Amino acid sequence: PTKKLHNKVAIITGGASGIGEETAHRFAENGARAVVIADIQEEKGQKVALSITTSNCCCTFIKCDVSDEEEVKSLVKSTVEKHGRIDIMFSNAGIMSKRRQDILNFNLVDYENVFSINVRGMAACVKHAGHAMVEGGVKGSIICTSSVMANYGAKISIDYVMSKHAVLGLVRCASKGLGRFGIRVNCVAPGPVATPMTCGVFQKSEEEVERSFEADFALKKSGYLKAKDVADAVMFLACADSVFVTGHSLAVDAGYVPI
Ligand code: NAD
Repeated sequence: PTKKLHNKVAIITGGASGIGEETAHRFAENGARAVVIADIQEEKGQKVALSITTSNCCCTFIKCDVSDEEEVKSLVKSTVEKHGRIDIMFSNAGIMSKRRQDILNFNLVDYENVFSINVRGMAACVKHAGHAMVEGGVKGSIICTSSVMANYGAKISIDYVMSKHAVLGLVRCASKGLGRFGIRVNCVAPGPVATPMTCGVFQKSEEEVERSFEADFALKKSGYLKAKDVADAVMFLACADSVFVTGHSLAVDAGYVPI
């Protein structure tokens, strides 16, 4: 049977690590002919690209800081030049401030840093991928990474939580703007998963991060929610299984309820 992403060309921002890295593997397994990993981590990104490349899938790394619109523009341009088109943009690169501020300590420096990547960077990726899809006549799929925290408020990390609410707004607006071209725009809203981002911010090992959120998951299973489970949801939004789904936020959070 033909694979779900047969002949598709995808870009994944933040593809050198965590959720993006897992998704790069998933896209390749599902038949994508080209996966472009765009990230600021050059060495790690090159390594991931090399490990994914097979005779059927060309996986390459392009250094790109999504907070710089010119870099995003050139990422999209070189992808189209090399592979002819873009079918899937997974706009996933995101950060969380190490200082986890509440409203009384709200800090403009952290806020601007987080928003420059999580919001402005995501919008630039959606915009330029949208242009490439419109110009190429591609009825593509754009997926952003929001967060379960866009469904709740929080006491701390408010710059991050605000940014993920904004991603939802971006997705809703872009789905309206690009719908007439047959382009879909959705987001995944992951619950907490252990990745270098969460381990770094919480100063914990993977296992400690997973255990620390255990009580917050309504759904009890053997094993914890992982980046690969988020990749499965991104895969659904990327392929034709979700052909009439747009403007949607798909939670992959094991029924997370903040306590
Ligand atoms: P991660 O740190 O493992 O991966 C993020 C990647 O983004 C890294 O490779 C990093 O180098 C890259 N990146 C950072 N800034 C960049 C920039 N300016 N330009 C290009 N690339 C950049 O973290 P992750 O947990 O896999 O995070 C991926 C996305 O998932 C983020 O948007 C994050 O907010 C979101 N998310 C994560 C969780 C979680 O619990 N891990 C939960 C909800 C949402």
